[in-house]
Amino acid sequence: MIFEKIQSEDFEQVVYCSDSRVGLKAIVSMHSTVLGPAVGGCRMWDYASGDEALTDVLRLSKGMTYKAAISGLNWGGGKAVIMGDPKVAKTPALLERFGEFVERLGGHYVTAKDVGIGADDLRTIKSKTKHVLGIEGEVGSSGDPSPATAWGVYHGMRAAAEKAFGGKSLKGLTVALQGLGSVSYYLLEHLTADGAKVIGCDIDQAVIDRAVQKYGIEIVRPEAIYDVPCDIFSPSALGAAINSETLPRIKAKVIAGAANNQLATPGAGIELVRRGMLYAPDYAINAGGLINIYHEAAVAGGYSRTRAFDHVAKIGQTITEILDRSEAEKLPAYAVADQIAEERVKRGRRPAQQL
Ligand code: NAD
Repeated sequence: MIFEKIQSEDFEQVVYCSDSRVGLKAIVSMHSTVLGPAVGGCRMWDYASGDEALTDVLRLSKGMTYKAAISGLNWGGGKAVIMGDPKVAKTPALLERFGEFVERLGGHYVTAKDVGIGADDLRTIKSKTKHVLGIEGEVGSSGDPSPATAWGVYHGMRAAAEKAFGGKSLKGLTVALQGLGSVSYYLLEHLTADGAKVIGCDIDQAVIDRAVQKYGIEIVRPEAIYDVPCDIFSPSALGAAINSETLPRIKAKVIAGAANNQLATPGAGIELVRRGMLYAPDYAINAGGLINIYHEAAVAGGYSRTRAFDHVAKIGQTITEILDRSEAEKLPAYAVADQIAEERVKRGRRPAQQL
């Protein structure tokens, strides 16, 4: 069963790591190392079963291959999951043991933060392996990824808006922003500076207050965001925001946001085309954080925020390429993004100087 599962989608290597003395049960998936090391965060989650953990790590690691490839990075896709409730089961001994397993993989897998694993945990893991990236607060670290993600979403949104409305900026356009968390807070700065009107929502009153105080944006109830008259709908909270129930309600011509897995089903992507809406594929537009961390590790001369952010801004060109090709080939944008990423993996590595 496992071979069927991993061969059907070309997973290169899946490693189970176990040590009952410290309660470690982890799975590392290296979906692809064609373009470079399989990079992806480590998630700690209270999975109901090993199968559930496997399904999650496979899906997430494959997603990383596509995200790195569409962004032109010489990185492959990987991910690790540790089974257990991080509030209860996370101990230094468990994290150290996980670090030893990562070290054994010799750099083919490089770990980072994800749900349930924070900067202090990464420091513990790093005591056993050098194959760790993105430890906020460390010298040479690329820091919090949210500002870079927001910068990329802004450029992707502008590119999609240019295609839809013709203008070079967001001036005069209305953006419905679903979720006002970390990424959206930084995104708001760019949107308002560009002259966009923002209508936002969140389920957390503290983040609503923060956004209203600083940017004076209009707020609606979370469920009402889909009905807001707007030019751009920005899913920046949860996955599956674009589905058969919400699509008929969304008035926007452009969908461009930070959230992962925005389309509930591929059918939603096809329906977007039928309705004449332009969709900036999620893993292409929200890759700013990954591009930023890439500059920490894989770019000569070490991390420079200016260089990293200039690179992130190229997400605008990526979105234009996807949308142009989607129009020319009459294919949904999500399928075009997949094609471009798969073609790049097939072609293999690009020389570093072309990055
Ligand atoms: P966050 O947790 O800081 O913000 C998410 C916000 O969404 C929270 O304020 C939460 O209260 C709100 N929310 C939850 N349910 C909601 C609902 N039903 N309606 C409205 N708001 C709701 O997360 P973030 O770091 O800002 O990330 C936002 C999205 O972007 C996530 O989907 C994340 O996976 C994705 N993403 C983030 C990054 C990054 O660098 N942080 C990178 C790539 C993708």
